[in-house]
Amino acid sequence: MDKTGFETQLLHTPFEKEDAYHSLSMPVYNTAAYEFDTAEAMEEAFCGRTTGHAYSRITNPTVQYFEKRIQAVTGALSVTALNSGMAAISNVFFALAKAGTNIVTSAHLFGNTYSFLKSTLGAFGVEVRFCDLTKPAAVREQIDENTCAVFLEIITNPQLEVADLKTLSDIAHRHGVPLIADTTVVPFHVFHASEFGVDIEVISSTKYISGGATSLGGVILDYGKFDWTHSKKLHQLAEQVGMSAFTAKLRKEIHRNLGAYMTPQVAYMQTLGLETMEIRYSRQAVSCNRLAQELQLLPQVESVNYTALETNPFYQISTSQFGSYPGAMLTFDLPSREVCFRFMNQLKLVRRATNLFDNKTLAIHPASTIYGTFTEEQRQRMDISQKTIRLSVGLEDVNDLLEDICESLKSIAPL
Ligand SMILES: *Cc1c(COP(=O)(O)O)cnc(C)c1O
Repeated sequence: MDKTGFETQLLHTPFEKEDAYHSLSMPVYNTAAYEFDTAEAMEEAFCGRTTGHAYSRITNPTVQYFEKRIQAVTGALSVTALNSGMAAISNVFFALAKAGTNIVTSAHLFGNTYSFLKSTLGAFGVEVRFCDLTKPAAVREQIDENTCAVFLEIITNPQLEVADLKTLSDIAHRHGVPLIADTTVVPFHVFHASEFGVDIEVISSTKYISGGATSLGGVILDYGKFDWTHSKKLHQLAEQVGMSAFTAKLRKEIHRNLGAYMTPQVAYMQTLGLETMEIRYSRQAVSCNRLAQELQLLPQVESVNYTALETNPFYQISTSQFGSYPGAMLTFDLPSREVCFRFMNQLKLVRRATNLFDNKTLAIHPASTIYGTFTEEQRQRMDISQKTIRLSVGLEDVNDLLEDICESLKSIAPL
């Protein structure tokens, strides 16, 4: 990221091999398998002694090019692309955790991540310890010699809580534990995870990267800075391969066995998405900031949650980590669940849909949808309020968005 600008470097990342027809775009290699000239070459490739492709569940040139572009702009040691954000998250923990180990995290997690850790991994004897990651003492208390990871989302959704990453990574590293972060809400050209001590970064590329909700995807970035000789599961491997132990475990075992590698068509779409991410984000994040400011002034809105508002409790830490435009998502509270529903039903431009960072602006009532099947007690523990609307801000003219929101509010609660 030092030589040239983010976008320049991204666009001009070379292919691994020159294309036979000098194609400007990476061709989509829709193939399951690859042919070899000799049995010896086949042996070399299958035994991992050469880097050739053998089977597209393991590597594929189109997917590899997508990975390489991300690697070029982030400086990661390795990038692994999977078929969804959840596939990326589950691959990370299958590589790190084993029965008897524990994961220290917050209960403020993306719904499926919470369920994956608690139910799916829980059934394999992995303990999940929920605590308040914004309180260093609480984190210290939970970590012990069986902790395999501290995990967090950099801005939790939909609570929009921000932990101090440098403090957290210091605590984790002092105990020989890696810090794993889901950075989906702020793209890597804005937030440089590694500089804040994040060892493994995981992203749902369905969001900003896909280029407007074109496809599902997820990526895992290993920055190669963690000493895995401290890891309960990877210490033996670390003795052999050093700092790349996580990547070795992931690429040589876990992702092959789980079989959720990104497909070439998706990699093609997401490579195109990457090309416009910086420019899309700059518009979406600026619009989001403006909407947050304006929503605060509306009489029907009880409160607005966006971490770049000076009144926000996380304003300072958010600004120091993510700058003035921390994501294109905000939430706001209306007087009740009924008012939220009536507001949603009046919207004409803003779409009623889940997902984040589509090119279109999306609204959702999280408590009745994403968290609809949770018990009220679970929702309370996760700070999911019936009064909250979540807005993911798209590329529309911000004045049109504001008008739609204002008109919808006026029509349901005339003052
Ligand atoms: C969407 C999302 C995920 C899951 O990603 P999928 O691509 O839908 O599997 C995980 N974490 C966060 C923060 C997300 O927003």
